[in-house]
Amino acid sequence: MTAIKEPSFRESVDLMFNRAASLMDLPPGLEEKIRVCNATYTVRFGVRLRGEIHTFTGYRSVHSEHMEPVKGGIRYALAVNQDEVEALAALMTYKCALVETPFGGSKGGLCIDPRQYEEHELEQITRRFAYELAKRDLINPSQNVPAPDMGTGEREMAWMADQYARMNTTDINARASVTGKPLNAGGISGRVEATGRGIQYALREFFRHPEDVQKAGLSGKLDGKRIIVQGLGNVGYHAAKFLSEEDGSRIVGIIEWDGALYNPDGIDVESVRQWIVKHGGVSNYPDATHSAEGGEVLEAECDILIPAALEGVINLSNAERIKAPLIIEAANGPVTAGADEILRKKGTVIIPDMYANAGGVTVSYFEWVKNLSHIRFGRMQRRQEEARHELIVSELERLDRYLGDAWSMTPDFKTKYLKGADELELVRSGLDDTMRIAYQSMREVWHSRDDVEDLRTAAYIVAIDRVSKSYRAKGL
Ligand code: GLU
Repeated sequence: MTAIKEPSFRESVDLMFNRAASLMDLPPGLEEKIRVCNATYTVRFGVRLRGEIHTFTGYRSVHSEHMEPVKGGIRYALAVNQDEVEALAALMTYKCALVETPFGGSKGGLCIDPRQYEEHELEQITRRFAYELAKRDLINPSQNVPAPDMGTGEREMAWMADQYARMNTTDINARASVTGKPLNAGGISGRVEATGRGIQYALREFFRHPEDVQKAGLSGKLDGKRIIVQGLGNVGYHAAKFLSEEDGSRIVGIIEWDGALYNPDGIDVESVRQWIVKHGGVSNYPDATHSAEGGEVLEAECDILIPAALEGVINLSNAERIKAPLIIEAANGPVTAGADEILRKKGTVIIPDMYANAGGVTVSYFEWVKNLSHIRFGRMQRRQEEARHELIVSELERLDRYLGDAWSMTPDFKTKYLKGADELELVRSGLDDTMRIAYQSMREVWHSRDDVEDLRTAAYIVAIDRVSKSYRAKGL
């Protein structure tokens, strides 16, 4: 078989950027200024483990500082490299602009297989990496705020934030140096589920527009839609769980590193997740057919495909065979530029990564604001709201007594109405609002311009326009 020439991940992002920029009227030179990555810092550091020194390579790339701090996750994986972190940092710039979180774009990575290390070793490595970054202001509440990404989570974020705090003992905003922390270390409710929740809200918003649904050759609502999800990590798991448990969608396929599960009647996401936790993979899971070749299920019949694993999984070698009429990119960059073109020609609708998976950074933004304001959301107003609601309820109760059998309050109205919103509810409401508004801004461009064929190009146009305005306001 002849090898198919595919651009690198960063080149792929640049190609998509160029496609959109060519439809815009940007001042000369600004297009390139926005596209290029401002700086990438590479660090090699040694950690003494198991009696010898191990050398690790890490990166933190800053794509655009039109707004500061810059924001983006830190990935732990063996395959991490400069091209990848630069592509991911660029996507962060566009993502933040699209969902209006006031950040520039950044991303980091450490070449490591975290499964090879004990917890205390990982802590040592993470703290050392964080030290190297913090020392250069690449972790800093006002300049660069990391978050979780593949291979990292709350635990690593708590170590990093603590490392920053140890190095900056008088910084009252130290907790805002990293987001995605556990609740007891300054985190916010709903951050872990945020990206998956964002996928759910994005799909709900898409299905609120019958015209858009029709473009994908679909009809109706999310209820009963057949979904295939690739990757049951934090994002894929939460998205699949919420969509199946709350929106009536049917998860018919789950693709993992050791093959795929398929069941046209639907698969119980929670039980597969438990199976993976216990057995390390999906093999031998009893209530679905297992195929060792995961790629086959990626190409299977379904209504919605959710790639929630790595970049580049839908590429020139399989794009033609992808049957899903609607793809929502939960991962960053799962569709290469070449595959994107093939799918566009086939009429596949793609809800692009920079919008679809923006739930994570949106809730990170709420966490950062919470840390800077040093107060939990809802703490001041919750009881006051409850008291005002109480007034209305007592008036309604009076009316209820007066009207006798003619009218009465719906049984659970009182409890539902009286309950003031807690932090989790406020976070979800803020996230929902963000996902709706950002979709509408993309959609506006998609529908109003004949030269914009797809949501991705529309998303880039909205994002680039905002970044360019911000640069121009600075006099560039
Ligand atoms: N790593 C996530 C992303 O790719 C989250 C970034 C953040 O919260 O800053 O969007």
